[in-house]
Parts: sequence; structure tokens; C-alpha cells
Amino acid sequence: MQNIDDLDVAGRRVLVRSDLNVPFDKSGSGVITDDGRIRASLPVIRALSDRGARVVVMAHLGRPKGDDFAERAEGGPSLRPVAERLSELLGRPVAFATDLVGQSAAATVAGLADGDVALLENVRFEPAETSKDDVERSVLAAEIARFGDLYVGDGFGVVHRKQASVFDLPALLPNAAGGLITAEVSVLKRLTEDPARPYVVVLGGSKVSDKLGVIENLLGLADRVLIGGGMVYTFLAALGHQVGTSLLEPDRIEDCKAILAAAAERGVELVLPTDIVVAPRFAADAPATVVAADAIPADHMGLDIGPASRELFASKLADARTVFWNGPMGVFEFPAFAAGTRAVADALTKVDGLTVVGGGDSAAAVRSFGLADDAFGHISTGGGASLEYLEGKTLPGLTALGA
Ligand code: ADP
Ligand code: MG
Repeated sequence: MQNIDDLDVAGRRVLVRSDLNVPFDKSGSGVITDDGRIRASLPVIRALSDRGARVVVMAHLGRPKGDDFAERAEGGPSLRPVAERLSELLGRPVAFATDLVGQSAAATVAGLADGDVALLENVRFEPAETSKDDVERSVLAAEIARFGDLYVGDGFGVVHRKQASVFDLPALLPNAAGGLITAEVSVLKRLTEDPARPYVVVLGGSKVSDKLGVIENLLGLADRVLIGGGMVYTFLAALGHQVGTSLLEPDRIEDCKAILAAAAERGVELVLPTDIVVAPRFAADAPATVVAADAIPADHMGLDIGPASRELFASKLADARTVFWNGPMGVFEFPAFAAGTRAVADALTKVDGLTVVGGGDSAAAVRSFGLADDAFGHISTGGGASLEYLEGKTLPGLTALGA
């Protein structure tokens, strides 16, 4: 894997794949609630620009829907507000192209002078970006490659995706890894190579099926696994409890039973919350009550772990020497349901050892609590990517860069 110092970039067009997938205010006001990923992407963009490259940044935002570019562009989300914030943070103009491989992109790239920076519209507006069909992806990658002489991969949050701008494009150009990717990989290596014990993994968040798959592998790595967030309800269902209207994946209940059995067999402590903060609906102002984890009312949903579980989780983190945390414990965006996530964040700041927080929303959560980034060993920009790295999977975006 080369790094950007290995590339001669002056006067050349450098395609940079960044991860600028930032969260927006849930009310739809268009306000970026945490620009951490943009900030994390600045060093490479700035360094290339300072060295006289013509920097063409590509990124995705959200999960656009629609059959073709036109439908997806219509439905959004557009990267335009991200281009504005990127420009503010860089302190230099950022030209914005309203497409990825169309006339706007061609004109924008052609208009760049040495040191200029451009951002192309959401790569996922092109359905081929995420296609499972190798040929479809290669065709798109070749179209993008027209706009660059060199490629820099810096989007750690997407390296686990076999996608055109992440996997197929670097194969077509001389390439290097950006500093964000090399930094992430060096920290994650420390989590897999002889970590200090006890090693505690905390999992939460909303992508239940994504994350259920990784738990089994984590059982081989960690001494203790604490589970909260949306995935906990499928575990509670596996224990035979009613979960009301909580997030639930009925077709994964059997998997959860298998995980519970495997943990017991391997001597890994799997810790579930004992109480839950529930509400009748998913809303910031919904009335919150605390119930036992085995007594969630039929017309209520679990939106956070309860006070006894906060203490339980903190106690399970107190003696840890290595912690990896991915996924909020509850809907922290609503203050009434943020206490569980806050408790885990606070507990991590007290750990005597290496603490790694992975995931866009988890990182946004710790920042929303006003905790400084340096209260943690490392805040990773990639949740899924860091989980898959820990599982020992080969990550297409790293392979493509020769890792
Ligand atoms: P990360 O980005 O850190 O990997 P995820 O994207 O998996 O985390 O999940 C983050 C989201 O999970 C947050 O927006 C949060 O509101 C949501 N979430 C957490 N707990 C619950 C719950 N009990 N019900 C619904 N959503 C939840
Ligand atoms: Mg997320």
C-alpha cells in the first residue's frame, strides 16, 4: 500500500474517494449535525492541494433510491451542503459538480487549476456504484477514471464495500492510501494483535442484521460483549420476552439463540440490559418510562437501556484494558433517550487502556455529549468497516490499494 507521499501529484488530476457521509438534522432542515467525517477528510485534501494537485473529491451520502441517476438526483440527498461545509473548513473554494460522470463533472474538472478542489455529486446517484454486477461497476469506474490521473483512497468508512469508486476505480489508476486509512488501520491492528485484557466489545445501533453477523466472530476475540441499541430486542425475543413495537428482526431470532449458546460455550460473557426505557412512539417528546427488560408493554418500543443497565454496563467496563464500541445504546438524538449512550461514553473515558469508538453515529454521539475526541484512544470514522476489519475479513477497498 503506497501513501500519498509516494505519488507525484503536482499538476495532476487526483481522484480522492473520501467518506463525507455526515448526519443531518432529523427534522429535514438541512443542517449538518456532526461534521467529524468532513474534518477527518481535510488533511489529505489539503495536502494534495498544497502540493499543486487538481483535487477531485468523490463521496456518497445516505442511501438514495430510484432506478437511474435522474430519479436518485431528484430524491436526494445531494452533497451540495457538504461541499459548502468542506469549503468553509478548508478555507478555500470547492467547485461542485451536479453529477458524477456527466457534463457538469467534465466541465468542473476541466476548469480546475493546480491546487483547486472540486467535489462531485453523490456517487450513489449512479446505481452502478453499488451494483453486484462486476461489469456494471467497471463501466462506471472507467467513466470516472477519465477525470483523473491518480487515485487516492481515504474513505475508511467504505473500505468494506465492493463498490465502483472504492474497489474498481483504483484498479484503473496509479493509487495510494490517504492518511485517514493508514491511521485507522494501524489502530485496528492493535485491537487484533495481542490486545490487553479484559477486552470488552460494546455493540448497539440500528443496523441489526448487519451487526448480528459479526457478533459470533467477536466472540473469538473479546472476553465480554455488551449489547444495547436496536439489536438488543432481537436478543430479548430470543430469550422468549415480548418486545412490543421495538426494532425486531424475527428472522434473526434463531441466530441470536445460537449466539447466546456459543457465548456460553466459549466462556464469553454476553451482557444484555436488565431494564429498558420505553415510549409509545418514536418521537423526541414521547413520554418515557422504565420497565424490566422482560416486561416491555405490547404498545411500547424500547428506545434506550435503563438506569440499572447503565450501571451494569459501566461496571462491566470499569476493569477493561481494551474496549471497542460500535453503535449507540439508544436513540441518543432525542435527549430523553440519550442516557444509556452517555453512560457508555463516560465509562469509556475512565478506562485505563486502549478505547476505540467506531461508527458515524457513535462518533457523533460522543461529540454531542461534549466529550473531547482525545478522551478516547481513537474515534474511527467507520463502523461497519472497523467491525469487518476486527472480524479478520479482507476489505475490498484496502485490497484495491494493495494492502
Ligand atoms: P453507527 O453509525 O455508530 O455504526 P448505527 O448506524 O448502527 O451506528 O446506528 C445508529 C442509530 O441507531 C442512531 O441513529 C440511533 O438513533 C439508532 N438506535 C439506537 N437504539 C435504537 C433503538 N432502540 N431503536 C431504534 N433506533 C435505535
Ligand atoms: Mg450509522
